[in-house]
Amino acid sequence: MEEDSRRGCVNCGAVLEAGADTCPQCGQEQPVRWMVILAYGLLALFVLGVIYRLIWP
Ligand SMILES: [Zn+2]
Repeated sequence: MEEDSRRGCVNCGAVLEAGADTCPQCGQEQPVRWMVILAYGLLALFVLGVIYRLIWP
C-alpha cells in the first residue's frame, strides 16, 4: 500500500512528506510524533512487563 507512506494533513488534507511535523500549506502540527512516542512507550511497558514475568514467576 503506497498510501501508508503518504499522509494527509489532519487540518487541510494536504499531502505531507514522510516525517513532516507540520503541514507545508496551513502550518498545522501533525500528531505523528506523539503517536510514535506513545507507541514506543507502550511497547517499552509491554517489554518490561514480559521481562518481569520471566524473572518473577
Ligand atoms: Zn494542512
